[in-house]
Amino acid sequence: MITGKNFIGEKASAKGAKTYRTYDPKKNNETEWTFHEATKEEIDLALKKATTAFKAYKGIPGTEKAKFLRAIAEEIEALGDPLIQAYVTESGLPEGRAIGERGRTMGQLRAFADLLEEGSWIEATIDTAQPERKPLPKSDIRKMMEPLGPVAIFGASNFPFAFSTAGGDTASALAAGCPVIVKSHPMHAGTGELVSLAVIRAAKRTGMPDGVFSNLNSSGIEVGQQLVMHPQIKGVGFTGSIKGGMALYKLANERPEPIPVFAEMGSINPVVALPSALEEKGDHWAAQYAGSITLGAGQFCTNPGLILGIKGKPLDNFVAKLGQDIIQIAPSAMLHPNIHKGYEQGKKELSSQGETAIVASYDGDSPSNYGKQKVLTVSGTDFLKNSVLHREVFGPFSLVVQCKDERELENVLLHLDGQLTGTILGNAEELRQYGIIVDALKSRVGRIIFNGVPTGVEVCPSMQHGGPFPASTDSRFTSVGVSAIKRWVRPVSYQDWPQELLPEALKNNNPLNIMRLVNGTYTDKKI
Ligand code: NAP
Repeated sequence: MITGKNFIGEKASAKGAKTYRTYDPKKNNETEWTFHEATKEEIDLALKKATTAFKAYKGIPGTEKAKFLRAIAEEIEALGDPLIQAYVTESGLPEGRAIGERGRTMGQLRAFADLLEEGSWIEATIDTAQPERKPLPKSDIRKMMEPLGPVAIFGASNFPFAFSTAGGDTASALAAGCPVIVKSHPMHAGTGELVSLAVIRAAKRTGMPDGVFSNLNSSGIEVGQQLVMHPQIKGVGFTGSIKGGMALYKLANERPEPIPVFAEMGSINPVVALPSALEEKGDHWAAQYAGSITLGAGQFCTNPGLILGIKGKPLDNFVAKLGQDIIQIAPSAMLHPNIHKGYEQGKKELSSQGETAIVASYDGDSPSNYGKQKVLTVSGTDFLKNSVLHREVFGPFSLVVQCKDERELENVLLHLDGQLTGTILGNAEELRQYGIIVDALKSRVGRIIFNGVPTGVEVCPSMQHGGPFPASTDSRFTSVGVSAIKRWVRPVSYQDWPQELLPEALKNNNPLNIMRLVNGTYTDKKI
């Protein structure tokens, strides 16, 4: 049952007088659930518990933390249909998507559990002493990754499971050894409360300290701001708008002790269609992209918002077919009336730039809050002159840029903001022939795709989900895949430390049996 309370560690709490409700975008009315916004006192208590919990949690062996993560996955599954129904009600997304995203979320938790059980992620690096070294003896130095401390995680609107309460940010931070305080997303606070219950049940079941996880409700920016400013918070994870991400990034950097903010923000995910793709497979790619642009009402950070090609008949044919195909697709509900409003505004703003022409615009009747797809086109020259056209329109929208030649195409790519993904459609020979284009695209993105669509992010160790600013605030890290753990740790070196007092990972006899870099060689052998 959804109570609308916060979780301050294991304890449900509703001290705040300010309340709000979530919204059912399909029915276009408020849900029956009322949520209590967290108070300053509750935030402070969550931080106090998290700080105490950190002292114990960081020292708990990885294998035990792995049991905790696996238990969270089990408890999420045990919530059964009521959880799926809360997700569907609060997001307007279909049941199939909810079930798929729940599976992905449980898979992420288990992937981090596997990582902890294997253990080498800690990057143990050992350089043994050389007392006889001349002119000076060398100390014994041993380094490994250690957790930052309590972190604040902001749930994302567009992934109520996989990028929210127990999503990739939370799973990676808990795996790293950091207690987590979630700032629940106000659009799906009920889903968040149920998932929080699963995390707390799992923590109790596996003997984790009270305060290792808290969930705070809020429908305004104050709770998030207080969290980021709190001296006991040591890192922040965020997925959402550039405006929100940058506000938090700025706040974090203005603290007496600045802290890292890993914000994943806007991306229009450019797609370059090379000649062979348009000449030989134009119809195929038009159908694929009509589907990709409208998938999930276009509410994916990897939605293809920009398609680039070189002017000519094949590009004209592709554009016409894309328009025909996309108009056949029935619109679907967007996540919230505010997201829908933002989409309509963004569409209007780009459409009103005089240089654009309409390729397709769904003008049929549809219920409130449904995202009606639109595709525009513009010349490369006009695109370069007008930065408004470079903006993300979050929803089923895309802009086709028709460049006069390869040089202009390269120029357009070099003038784009940083992106999560870039896609090339063509053949392998063209990848060599258009090496300059490929290089220009690669310089702006975190993931480069050949002959595919950018929507659909595989969760695996080799995935990079993060790119040059403003796709993310730090392009060296990913928010998807097990490498995401690296955001929540820092290296610590132990110099001439007594053997018996070293962390297990750094002891000579390698009790954890992990791969380590010993005197320049990777090995799992004892020293
Ligand atoms: P958002 O407005 O950035 O909000 C995300 C979270 O950050 C919310 O919990 C919000 O709290 C908080 N927040 C926002 N501004 C803040 C500030 N100045 N200080 C403290 N906290 C702040 O994103 P959204 O609500 O999910 O969606 C709005 C738009 O973001 C979308 O239309 C879309 O353009 C973009 N978006 C992009 C992606 C992506 O992956 N690139 C994903 C989702 C959304 P409150 O809501 O409580 O104020």
